[in-house]
Amino acid sequence: MKVVLLGPPGAGKGTQAARIAEYLNVPSVASGDLFRDHQKRDTELGRLARSYMQRGVLVPDEVTISMVTEWIETEAGDGGFLLDGFPRTLGQAEALDGALSNADGLDRVLYIRVANDELVRRLTGRLVCRECGVTFHRVSNPPPADGACGDCDGGELYEREDDRPEAVGKRLEVYFSETAPLIDYYREAGILREVDGEQSIEDVGQELVEKLGGAS
Ligand code: AMP
Repeated sequence: MKVVLLGPPGAGKGTQAARIAEYLNVPSVASGDLFRDHQKRDTELGRLARSYMQRGVLVPDEVTISMVTEWIETEAGDGGFLLDGFPRTLGQAEALDGALSNADGLDRVLYIRVANDELVRRLTGRLVCRECGVTFHRVSNPPPADGACGDCDGGELYEREDDRPEAVGKRLEVYFSETAPLIDYYREAGILREVDGEQSIEDVGQELVEKLGGAS
């Protein structure tokens, strides 16, 4: 099954992606993680991406599309995949359709809906584990008292540069102008399913799995 997770930054896509990929038994990738990995390895692409990510704006389509389609070609087998954070523009969505034209296209786009003020609250205060990528929140989901990750082997927690208030506002603005139009794009294609992302993590996960049902 080929599935895309769509939703604003802070909707919980990363948290749910791990669960859904496990449920479907398909490989998953977050385009933001691919960029962060390039930065860590200090590649040319990583240096290019940093200048955009720091400002909370999108990395240009051309480089993003080739990075993700390469991942699909090399990492995703015949069983499908789960994409988190890609596509994020109409250009990316059309490129993905083109890349999958020999493979029946996407089966489902799961849209996680969360109100704006809740997104701001979630993103400012988010802490991410450098080792396993699990997220905590200073107020609503605090890490263990020693400040290390409680999910893996005590990985270091950090605040993403683009989770600072200046960048959060910009990222949400970019989401509404560039990415939100994809909701209608996929609704018209008949493959969009919507989930209320303000329920508990468990309930959101369960509803997402239910909404996968009936996909070809
Ligand atoms: P995320 O981890 O999904 O919040 O992404 C962090 C940042 O990576 C975004 O603010 C963008 O600068 C960049 N990015 C991630 N995915 C994409 C994409 N599909 N298109 C363009 N830029 C992206």
